Amino acid sequence: MSLSPKVRRERRAFAAKLKDRKPKRRGRCANCFKMYVDESPNQIKKFCGDQCKKEFHAHGSAYGPLKVRLEKLVRQITRELEVRVKNLEAALKEVSRSPNQPNP
Ligand SMILES: [Zn+2]
Repeated sequence: MSLSPKVRRERRAFAAKLKDRKPKRRGRCANCFKMYVDESPNQIKKFCGDQCKKEFHAHGSAYGPLKVRLEKLVRQITRELEVRVKNLEAALKEVSRSPNQPNP
């Protein structure tokens, strides 16, 4: 018993539709910890992009987390410095406005 070409074509189209409907695997990048969608059907990826893969293989597994932590630290220190500069500017304005103290 053989199927007609028309039926075969329909079955193949239906199978392709099912394959498309299958949810894509989501994973966390081993280098930068961002979420990514795995586009490849068979291969199990570990990285969100080519750049992360290169970094991971060049510097090792500790480089990504260190980079993320360093960025956070730098952002925090910058924020603290901005607050200090604002406070100093406010204090300077008050000093220059007050009539009791002579301006240099
Ligand atoms: Zn990544």
